This record gives sequence, structure tokens and C-alpha cells, in this order.
Amino acid sequence: MIVYDLACGQEHKFEGWFSSQDDFDKQISNGQLSCPVCGSTTISKQLSAPYLNTLPDKKTASKIKQKEMALAGVDLQQLHDQFIEYIAKNTEDVGTEFPDEARKIFYGESDSRSIRGEATVEVMQELKDEGIDVYALPPGPTPPDKLN
Ligand SMILES: [Zn+2]
Repeated sequence: MIVYDLACGQEHKFEGWFSSQDDFDKQISNGQLSCPVCGSTTISKQLSAPYLNTLPDKKTASKIKQKEMALAGVDLQQLHDQFIEYIAKNTEDVGTEFPDEARKIFYGESDSRSIRGEATVEVMQELKDEGIDVYALPPGPTPPDKLN
């Protein structure tokens, strides 16, 4: 048996019990269905309550959340790899000369270009304090050309 929420043209709502979808279709096309309130045979099937309940239950919700987190992880890794690749291709490795070179570039004593290298957190902060744009690379794989 299946239960349908039905309504007539005047929006009287009632339930109809049928042995199958076909049974319902047959009864409605034969005009066998009528509104118990007004007797109208213009009957339409309403979306049943369970069908309308599209909010995921707790179990599903947590699954969705896990999926999102896994996806985010993948994207971040890709972004990270692309970032490292970009850095490797578009910057000059000046190694430990980084703080000096960064200052020279900033003060116009050296050609303006993007560089990368090594600096301690303290030195990075000093450079920032001087108004120099420096960024700490996120921890991760070393750019290929830095591998010995
Ligand atoms: Zn009615």
C-alpha cells in the first residue's frame, strides 16, 4: 500500500490509500477519486511530507561534512603545489643572501625582481617592519631546484 497526500481544486487536503502508483493513476483518470469534503473529482497529488523533508539527517550531514573536508584537503594540496611551482619558476633563489637582497631591491640598489631564500622568523619580521613585502613559504615540499 502507498499513501498519497491529495487535494482537490479547492485545496481540501486528504489522504488516499492505493495499492500502487498504477492504481492511483487508474482511479484518478476514471474519476473514481473524489474529495471527501466537497465531492470534487479534480484531485491532485501533493508532495508527501517525507518527500519534502530534504534536510539531511544527522548521519548524512556528518558524511557531507567529511566529504567537504576531504575535498578541501585535495584543493589545498593542489594550490600548495601550484604555489611552490610558481615560486620556483618566478623567483630567483638567493639563498642566505635573502635578507640583504630583499633590502637592496627594496631600496633600489638591486634590480627589481622576485626572490626567494632563507631567513629566520626574526629577520622576516625586521624586513616587514621596514615595509618590505616578504612572505613565509608554507611548510611543504622544497622547490625541485633547491634539492641537492
Ligand atoms: Zn474538496
